[in-house]
Amino acid sequence: MSSRLSGIGMTSQRTRLRMIERLRVQGIVDEAVLNVMNEIPRHIFIEEALASRAYEDFALPLGFGQTISQPYVVARMTELLTADKPLGRVLEIGTGCGYQTAILSKLVTEVYSVERLLPLLALARKNLRELRITNIRLKHADGHIGIPEAAPFDAILVTAAATHVPETLKEQLAVGGKMVVPMGTRQQHLCVIERTARGFSESRLDAVKFVPMLSGLS
Ligand code: SAH
Repeated sequence: MSSRLSGIGMTSQRTRLRMIERLRVQGIVDEAVLNVMNEIPRHIFIEEALASRAYEDFALPLGFGQTISQPYVVARMTELLTADKPLGRVLEIGTGCGYQTAILSKLVTEVYSVERLLPLLALARKNLRELRITNIRLKHADGHIGIPEAAPFDAILVTAAATHVPETLKEQLAVGGKMVVPMGTRQQHLCVIERTARGFSESRLDAVKFVPMLSGLS
């Protein structure tokens, strides 16, 4: 393994293990999620000047006004999404630096991820290649549209805050599928939408803080 991947000091495996212990204390119980978060080096997704803070429980800037979500929120959303059953095809909206994509890629068959900012998509592609992750498809597109040609998805994870749940995304959810989406503007909470043969059910969970889901490409 290259020294950048294995890390030293504040980016070492020992520091990452401390993050896992903290996630347990914070209430994350899914061992598969904890294992994957222990396996994936979060520091390589973060610019070098901030890499020493990669395993603290904060959102960190990615550039372009965007942030990498804090470890607890990544763990919590992944746990909500993957807990019930094995997942085949999953759609992520908001690739950012690709950290959440990498975590999901180890837990499901295939991840499709959509990002509206081209430079961030390029950054994610570089990071995921460095980790030799290949069961992912990245697309430069507006997440409001989803990826109709690859639907239906067993699960959809939105990683930017929406003001309304896009109908197009609900339509791309398989029957029996689940979507996790942060909802709101200043006050936000996680919303879980499940599709059954009879329609959709919605539940409201934890308070969160995400950058907004915006329209159009850049
Ligand atoms: N999943 C990332 C979170 C990145 S922050 C992580 O692991 O940390 C949210 C991302 O959503 C940003 O990169 C932002 O550019 C992107 N985004 C916002 N609105 C979007 C939209 N309509 N379509 C696609 N991506 C969007």
